[in-house]
Amino acid sequence: MATEHIVKSFDDELEALHGIIAEMGGLVGGELQAALDALANRDADAAAAATVTDETVNRLEHEIEELAVRMIAMRQPMADDLRAIIAGLRASGDLERIGDQAKNIANRVFTIVELAPVGIEPDVIELGIMVREIVSDAVEAYVERDTDKAEAVRTRDVEVDRRYTDIFSEILTLNTENSSRATVCTHLNLVVRSIERIGDQAYGAVIVKDGQIVGQAPSRVVVNTDPTGHAEMEAIRDASHRLGRADLSGCVMYSTSPPCAMCETAAHWSGVSALRYGSDIQDGGRPRYRRC
Ligand SMILES: [Zn+2]
Repeated sequence: MATEHIVKSFDDELEALHGIIAEMGGLVGGELQAALDALANRDADAAAAATVTDETVNRLEHEIEELAVRMIAMRQPMADDLRAIIAGLRASGDLERIGDQAKNIANRVFTIVELAPVGIEPDVIELGIMVREIVSDAVEAYVERDTDKAEAVRTRDVEVDRRYTDIFSEILTLNTENSSRATVCTHLNLVVRSIERIGDQAYGAVIVKDGQIVGQAPSRVVVNTDPTGHAEMEAIRDASHRLGRADLSGCVMYSTSPPCAMCETAAHWSGVSALRYGSDIQDGGRPRYRRC
């Protein structure tokens, strides 16, 4: 099916792909911001309105898939070009999941603003803004193929994790002090979890064997309360599970940022043949055993 993004050369097509991803990033970032504004202004109508972009986000994701499939089929791209398309597919999947979380947040805010405030709301909003900025910087780093920016995005997740832990324990305390706050605290807690999940979505890994994706995952550190749930570890687990074996030789692992010592060592033990990372998909060579 033809889309409005019909173009000629590979570079033009790649630029079109980047354009749709930038558009999608703008939409999901706007969705999150609208939900946070609704919480700040205690505006239930605005919270309900924050979810309307959902359909457009899904349409754009579909458009990216069609374009990527057509580019692969028509041009049979190799090496760098293929990596750029795979990175685009990964980014669109991440953004679609971020849109889902933004929608969850807006739905919770709709209920929260009907209940008495407990005082932690400004901190929740601040955390949400931090994460929204990370998402928009991650999209920019991808579109501009800016490795330094991608690296800076990774560093900021540590700060988000720290703030998340503080807010989480504050909500627990508020809840314990006064049981009448239980309902609003539960909703706020879920909002904060969704925000943290969005932060995690900025990191993803894909494992490819013979031109096919055999494993993929976002980071699941917070979702699964698993400190080892880095995207690369999760992708290795997914690939081993799907292939029905622990040996991943012949596989290439693509990840958002350079893998940490734990993840590179896991790739080494699983026999992954090569690592590629960053928005410009740098060649990370063969995974080595590294001391943490
Ligand atoms: Zn790691």
